[in-house]
Amino acid sequence: ERINIETKTKQYPVFLGEGITESLPHLLAQLSFPSGTKILIVTDETVEALYCPKLRSVLSQQYDVYTYVVPSGESSKSFENYYACQTAALTYGLDRHSLIIAFGGGVVGDLAGFVAATFMRGIPYIQMPTTLLAHDSAVGGKVAINHPLGKNMIGAFHQPEAVIYDIAFLRSLPEKELRSGFAEVIKHALIHDRAFYEWLKREIHCLDDLEGQKLQYCIHRGIQIKAGIVQEDEKETGIRAYLNFGHTLGHALESELGYGTITHGDAVAVGMLFALFVSERLYGVSFHDHQFCSWFQTYGFPTSLPPHISPEQLLQKMKGDKKAKAGTVRMVLLRDIGNVQIETIEDEQLLSLLHEFLE
Ligand code: NAD
Ligand code: ZN
Repeated sequence: ERINIETKTKQYPVFLGEGITESLPHLLAQLSFPSGTKILIVTDETVEALYCPKLRSVLSQQYDVYTYVVPSGESSKSFENYYACQTAALTYGLDRHSLIIAFGGGVVGDLAGFVAATFMRGIPYIQMPTTLLAHDSAVGGKVAINHPLGKNMIGAFHQPEAVIYDIAFLRSLPEKELRSGFAEVIKHALIHDRAFYEWLKREIHCLDDLEGQKLQYCIHRGIQIKAGIVQEDEKETGIRAYLNFGHTLGHALESELGYGTITHGDAVAVGMLFALFVSERLYGVSFHDHQFCSWFQTYGFPTSLPPHISPEQLLQKMKGDKKAKAGTVRMVLLRDIGNVQIETIEDEQLLSLLHEFLE
C-alpha cells in the first residue's frame, strides 16, 4: 500500500507492505532513478548480516551499489562515522544524482539522512526502516548526529525521496526493540486518535500480536498521525510539540540512567504514565477507567521510576531539555484521549509531583 506525505517543499510516498523489497527496482524506477545510478547503502552490523546480501543482490541487477556499515547502537550517530561515511561517498564517486539508502533503525536513518542532507549540499535519500520505532523516525525529515554534549545536537531537515517499509524485516527484531517502537505507536494514538487507541486495546493483547496485518496497521496509523502533525505544524501552529508527549520525563530518564540502559520506548512509556498522572492532578480528570498501568504491563513496559532515582536529578534533566523554555518545564498533557494541552509547570510543583509519582 501507498501513503502520500506532503510537506511544504516536497511530496513523497511511503510504500508499506510485507516483502516489498522484491519490487525495489520497480519502485526506484517509479521514483525516476535511472539504471546505473550509484547507490550507497548505509546500514549497521546487525542489519548488514541479516539482510544486506539480499538487498544488494536485488539492487545490483540495475544499479551501482556500495555499502557503508556502522556498529549497531546509538553511539554510531557520531561525528566520526558521519565523516567516514562522507569519505566513503567521495571515494566511491557519488555525486548529486546518486542515492543514499538508510537501511536500518532510527540510528542509521538519522546518520544516513544527515550525510545525505550535507553531502554536496544535499543529495536524495530513501528510508528503508527495519525497526518499529523507525515508523516515527523515518517521517518528519529530522536527521541528526549526536555531540558528546548532547543528543541530536547537529542536524538538519531533509525529506527523503520515499520511505520503503518492508515489515518482513521486523520479524527478527528483539522483543525489547519491538516494545520500544510500540511505545511510539501508543503515543501517536493517545495524542491524536481515540478510535485507534481503542483498536490497540482491543486487538493488541501482547507483543506477539504485532505481526502481519495488525503490525502493518499500527505502522500505517502511526505514520499518518505523525506526518499529519508535522504537516500541520508547517503552518506554525506549534502542534509538533505534541509529539513530545511522554518525552519530557522519558528523555530525562534515558539521560539519567544512561543511554542503552533503558530503551527509548520504555523510558517514554514511564514518561507517558507520568504525563497522564500530572494531567489528572492539574485538570481534575480521571483516567482510572483506562487502566493504563496494567495495560502497559501486559506488554512488559516498566510502569514506575526505578527506586534509586532522585527526583531532584530528574528535574534538572527535565529543565535541561532543549525544548524547555527559559528554565521552566513545558509538559505535553492530555485533557482526554486525543485532546492535548501544553502546560508550563513550576519547579516546585513538578518536584512534588515527581515525589508523589515515585511512591
Ligand atoms: P536502532 O537503529 O539502534 O535499532 C535498534 C537495534 O535493533 C539496533 O541494535 C539494531 O542493530 C537492531 N535492528 C535493527 N533492525 C533490526 C532487525 N530487522 N532485526 C534485528 N535487529 C535489528 O534504534 P531505533 O530504536 O530504531 O531508533 C532510535 C534512534 O532513532 C535514536 O537515535 C533516536 O534519536 C532516533 N529517532 C529519530 C527521530 C527523528 O525524527 N529523526 C524520531 C525518533 C527517534
Ligand atoms: Zn520518541
